[in-house]
Amino acid sequence: MDIYFYNTLTKKKEVFKPIDEKQVKIYSCGPTVYKDATIGNMRTNIFQDVLRRVLRYNGYTLKHAMNITDVGHLVSDGDEGEDKMLKSAREEKKTPMEIANYYTNLFFQDLELLNIETPEIVCKATDHIKEMLAYVQKLVEKGYAYETSTAIYFDIAKLDQYPILSNLNLREQKAGARVDVDLEKRSPYDFALWIKAPKNHLMKWDSPWGPSYPGWHIECSAMGQKYLGEQFDIHTGGIDLIPTHHENEIAQSKGNCGKIPANYWMHGEYLLINGGKMSKSLGNVYLMKDLIEKGYDPLVYRLFSYSCHYKNKLNFTWEGMQATTKSLERLKNGYQLHLLGKDEVEDREIQEVETRFHQAINDDLNMPLALGAVWEVIKQEKKSPKWADLLVKFDTVLGLKIKEPIQKKEEEIPQEILDLVKQRKQARENKDWTKSDELRDLIQNKGYDIKDTKEGIEIHRC
Ligand code: AMP
Ligand code: ZN
Repeated sequence: MDIYFYNTLTKKKEVFKPIDEKQVKIYSCGPTVYKDATIGNMRTNIFQDVLRRVLRYNGYTLKHAMNITDVGHLVSDGDEGEDKMLKSAREEKKTPMEIANYYTNLFFQDLELLNIETPEIVCKATDHIKEMLAYVQKLVEKGYAYETSTAIYFDIAKLDQYPILSNLNLREQKAGARVDVDLEKRSPYDFALWIKAPKNHLMKWDSPWGPSYPGWHIECSAMGQKYLGEQFDIHTGGIDLIPTHHENEIAQSKGNCGKIPANYWMHGEYLLINGGKMSKSLGNVYLMKDLIEKGYDPLVYRLFSYSCHYKNKLNFTWEGMQATTKSLERLKNGYQLHLLGKDEVEDREIQEVETRFHQAINDDLNMPLALGAVWEVIKQEKKSPKWADLLVKFDTVLGLKIKEPIQKKEEEIPQEILDLVKQRKQARENKDWTKSDELRDLIQNKGYDIKDTKEGIEIHRC
């Protein structure tokens, strides 16, 4: 079955044709390890993981590289400001290496919680200084780069086309759009390949231009070429990378070897919080650990992310997480019911639903549509292990660990609720049903449901 992907490069949905008919080569821009990854960052990582799983569902093997940025990503996406790693090291009173190790570990812990596979190749920028330097030197030799007193810049005027990926109109944007700190730059859109280190700069390496450090974009060009070759199949990242980082990666590669590094460029949209941006000042920057502290199974967030196509904005709400918890429970219970079932089901019926799922995932990773096929299986009145097997097959893409029970940390019930429950128990013992009902309503208004069972009273969040 054909696979279709929306390609940011051509701005069209296209049939996917890999360079090699068996193995797909992917490069994903990984984290800058200077702070905690948010659930927004994780949305992009889930999208990339689904891409891997869909390709594998279609029979491909994978060679997927992801970088870890531990140098060169400046505070502003223009070539301005402090290196994010150094800023964080200064603020946290640690060395840049300590910062990088600490946040890299946390990042991989989050991936594991979300059942996101680790790419075949994980490459760290600071381990590839030699490769980056050689790449820049080649650009200088071929006349695509020039030196100023502060940096080595890529000269975009040397390209037949810039930008290629984004719709940026340079002429319209030129006047005052970017205020440049380096007046020696030939164009405001020229970007730093290599930056001369000021005195006392912590991260610097010897180079033909003295002690210096790499710009942000060069690491992905150099490592992509090293591990996947001059041209590979798919390049992914978050949508914010299109006009800067990915545009400049293409420029570097065209200068270096005359090629656009990837044939398909795929970008994941942003996660919003209550309809707006995630920001520190609004106090709504959520991490995976916040979700877990509130008692959610991390995989609920994974399922939640399927409620929307990766190319659309997804709005995060706690109500959405509560509803998705119920969905994940239904899904896992539904699997168990099929597993124990004894009904006859025709293979043709199974095949039809499998085809609908397969068509959905192959249609540019349409997970909301694919979930439709999953619910069709759950809702089948005839219960059969054949349906359970199909769910296990679907789960190779969903990554929801369908065979395992949901992990719900029982939330601590506030003392106020416990006191009300005690009063209600007393009222019931006194056969004061009116009071008992009033207390139940009060408890419900405060967000808790109570259920009288043979074993005692159960208290749940509504
Ligand atoms: P940052 O740590 O903010 O530089 O983000 C790292 C990458 O994660 C960015 O390049 C984005 O592609 C992605 N990202 C950041 N915030 C979000 C968000 N709210 N939703 C989805 N992806 C995001
Ligand atoms: Zn990158």
